[in-house]
Amino acid sequence: MHAKCLMKILNLENITVCYNSLLSGYALKSRVKDVVVLFCEMRGLGVEINGVTMLGLVQPCGIPGNLGLGMCVHGFCVKFGLDMDSSVGNCLLTMYVKSGENDCGRKLFNEMPRKGLITWNAMINGYAQNGLANNVLELYKEMESKGVCPDPLTLVGVLSSCAHLGALSAGNLEGILRVRMLMRERKLKKDPGCSYVEFKGRIHLFFAGDRNHPQINEIYKKLNELENLVKDLDGCKKNDHERREEYLNSMGVHSEKLAVAFALLNTRKETEIIIIKNLRICGDCHLFIKMVSKIVDRQFVVRDATRFHHFKNGFCSCKEYW
Ligand SMILES: [Zn+2]
Ligand SMILES: [Zn+2]
Repeated sequence: MHAKCLMKILNLENITVCYNSLLSGYALKSRVKDVVVLFCEMRGLGVEINGVTMLGLVQPCGIPGNLGLGMCVHGFCVKFGLDMDSSVGNCLLTMYVKSGENDCGRKLFNEMPRKGLITWNAMINGYAQNGLANNVLELYKEMESKGVCPDPLTLVGVLSSCAHLGALSAGNLEGILRVRMLMRERKLKKDPGCSYVEFKGRIHLFFAGDRNHPQINEIYKKLNELENLVKDLDGCKKNDHERREEYLNSMGVHSEKLAVAFALLNTRKETEIIIIKNLRICGDCHLFIKMVSKIVDRQFVVRDATRFHHFKNGFCSCKEYW
């Protein structure tokens, strides 16, 4: 039966819309086989294919193991002239990078006439997930030069790659500072907490609960030692069990504490330690750094999202007002 007859019988104005909703439903449930059968039926009946149809077809191809099918679907997209549709293109791109096919993804990326934020994010995060840090930074620079505003997802890709590299060059750092500023302006909350400290001309970046740094074991050891000293001085409320839990559940360790431990491990007594933190410092870390400044007799400067904190001999310049 031809689609037009079917439409007449069912009194439907647009059968494509009906088929598309059914197709999207299958796609959402990752019912790949049903998606393909339905698509073949659409073709057989001469139902018009549009961008939404293709989206329904591409989505389940992002699941690992479906790349072969995905490539066929890509072929169909080209045949119907829908491969340059932004949503379809983004979906195909995501499919390629998720399958680790970065070169295919990049080829498509380069060909896409309209690259939106989703397109840039898909490619940047694709590189990031495959550990290609240099490609991430290069693409991020290109994105900035094109005047595309990054969002938290972009930042996650860029920062995770930088952490992977272990260091940032000054140019990238500047870029990241700008991202952070933009994000603060837009009051975006997904910004992951991170702190960095400069040592011998290299920037060391730490995320909350980070385990990526080459010295990470020494850092956690040092941190535990410091926490115990602080506890002795403070007559702390936390018991050992709680502290141990916190130590093991490293997600609880804020990035500035890791940066403090790292700096103490690597710098000489007379060096002032400067730590930059993207978010506002929390009360616990503030107290911790105050105590540590007294215990180890060192000075720390922490620049958080709102102000400078100069820690010296158990006190902070902000006088607890921040
Ligand atoms: Zn904190
Ligand atoms: Zn302070």
